[in-house]
Amino acid sequence: MGQFDDQKQEIVNACQKLVEKGFLMATGGNVSMRILTARNTFAITPSNYDYLKMTAGDICLLDFDLAVLEGQLKPSVESAMHAAIYQVRPDVNAIIHTHQVYASALTLIKAPIPALFDEQARFLGRSVEIIPYAPSGTGMLKNTIARHVRNHDNAYMMQNHGALLFGHDMERAMHNVEILEKCSLAYLLALTSERKVSKIPFAVREIAFAKLRKDQRKVEQGNFTASGE
Ligand SMILES: [Zn+2]
Repeated sequence: MGQFDDQKQEIVNACQKLVEKGFLMATGGNVSMRILTARNTFAITPSNYDYLKMTAGDICLLDFDLAVLEGQLKPSVESAMHAAIYQVRPDVNAIIHTHQVYASALTLIKAPIPALFDEQARFLGRSVEIIPYAPSGTGMLKNTIARHVRNHDNAYMMQNHGALLFGHDMERAMHNVEILEKCSLAYLLALTSERKVSKIPFAVREIAFAKLRKDQRKVEQGNFTASGE
């Protein structure tokens, strides 16, 4: 039994639930968690590995320079993207990258989601932006993503690729996956009507986003204290 087995098991449980619900398919996507008790360290799913066969021992432990600290399997090809997000977003402790279908469809028509629902603004942010295309596993994708996530939203869509969801913990990140898919489907259906899509009032959006930022600041402060900064 290792020191980080609980976090590794939490990642496996999350992946298997996401597969059951149809948000992760086959070996696509990747999931990670920041290790709060070790500086600059995160646990992430291995590359190209069946989620239903995955056990805690298959999860890789990496530092932010991508040195493998634990794990026999090759870490996700998107490990650099996850490390970059943890570095620019101290409020994020869990990251889920999916190829979920409805959000992916919106990326094909480059349709960012404006603030459509209160719950969306409260948990995902002011809007769900589309991060421009860059090939998987490249420095270009990592840099593009690190630049975009500074706006403090917790959901993004990746052009011709998939979605990226954040949370202060895994449970929150999982709920955000579901909220994004609900918003994506509702928005797609509304767009097909070719009628004007209404948004929530600007003031309501800003109040909801302020609550999200307040939550994020609390986590940021906790994380800085935990790492001795
Ligand atoms: Zn992907």
